[in-house]
Amino acid sequence: MKNQHWISKDASGIENYYNPIFDQHTIYTPYRSAPIFTTNKNVKTITPTNIGIEEHYCPFCLGESFLATPEKLRSVKSQEQITYIPYPALQDDSQNVLFRRQANLFEIICYDYWQDKYNIITPPEDLVRIDKAFDDPQLKSSLQGLLQLNLQKNNQDIKDFSIAEQKKMCEYFYNGFHELLTSGRHYLPQATNSSELFHSGYIPWADHRVSFEMICNTITDMCARNPFITFITVFQNWLSEAGASIEHWHKQILGIDFWGHVLLREASLTKDCSTFYRDFICETINQENLLIAENKHAFAYIEIGGKTGRITICSKSKNLRPQEHTLEEIHAMSDLSHAILSTITPLTPYNEKWFYTPFHQEDFVTPWRISISLRANVNAGFENITQKLINPISPKKLADAIRNLMTSKSAYFAPNITITSKNISPDMFEYI
Ligand SMILES: [Zn+2]
Repeated sequence: MKNQHWISKDASGIENYYNPIFDQHTIYTPYRSAPIFTTNKNVKTITPTNIGIEEHYCPFCLGESFLATPEKLRSVKSQEQITYIPYPALQDDSQNVLFRRQANLFEIICYDYWQDKYNIITPPEDLVRIDKAFDDPQLKSSLQGLLQLNLQKNNQDIKDFSIAEQKKMCEYFYNGFHELLTSGRHYLPQATNSSELFHSGYIPWADHRVSFEMICNTITDMCARNPFITFITVFQNWLSEAGASIEHWHKQILGIDFWGHVLLREASLTKDCSTFYRDFICETINQENLLIAENKHAFAYIEIGGKTGRITICSKSKNLRPQEHTLEEIHAMSDLSHAILSTITPLTPYNEKWFYTPFHQEDFVTPWRISISLRANVNAGFENITQKLINPISPKKLADAIRNLMTSKSAYFAPNITITSKNISPDMFEYI
């Protein structure tokens, strides 16, 4: 495989990159370079709260539980032990809650779609939960308030629907396929200003592992409840500049019955060359020194062709989907993601996206990888006309910058990680 068409540089310092999997062209010119890590923006003073004290900043805060969809599962930390509590009672917020699993109020692929197309049925135990909630005036009022938020977008009113219709509308809160993992805190404990958000890289690496375990378990559960799902998108939009409507830490887990452009392209490229992904990244990483760090089961590198910059954490495992990884492998992916995000300030917007081998097919295999695209700013005129995205920093310089930042912050992340710029070998992949 020849990569001349993926990277080209000329004497003026202009660098062109093409990523065939994302089908993205980028251009770097030294005359338009810019800093990429945001270290300050308008911050406001906040009142510090400790663990176990309710926050009231947004609907995902524990103190505002009635403004969010019913909680399906929470992880609680006590004396370094993690406990999982299904369907916890509302207003039981004295615990050190790490993460909560709940439905997305505003689904992208709505529950009706799955019911209409595939005859998905709400399990009897969920119908019982809805009946019980409607028997409790406070819970009933909470659910009706949530439905009203959705209805008013179409100029409808909850009062125009019978109780039976309202209960039916609540079914997706319990059995839908667009879920959220929200953090137990909005700000870090004892935060004194609004820049100190609960952020993946600013929490202990051991706590970060819990979020990955819960996402993998959610994928397993979603697949079991809906066999028509062919891929589950996992993503996080960090900060409003990256598309987050609420700046309280939350990851989205959304089942779909299609693959999307990126995986379809990769599957097509793999038809002619079964090792396409592996060969593409080995060649570009080794040519430009783009490896950043690794541990036993994963490695992190700069992927060319990303807007602003794209950092990817890739599994070495033969296990193709996140939930098929061993616990040790899941922890390795979590640790490396945590370490990368530890180097990025909580004020730097990014989009995190998970890719892996889709379900129910044997033709196409690709490793689990987590792509972190820095600062999803709006495409400007040149970018819209040429479809070339302007990189404010070259991939090589970004790799150097991340490695340097990681070295200075290594005390904060898991000890199994080596920061390195060595060449990688195709033999390190077990998946093919
Ligand atoms: Zn919040």
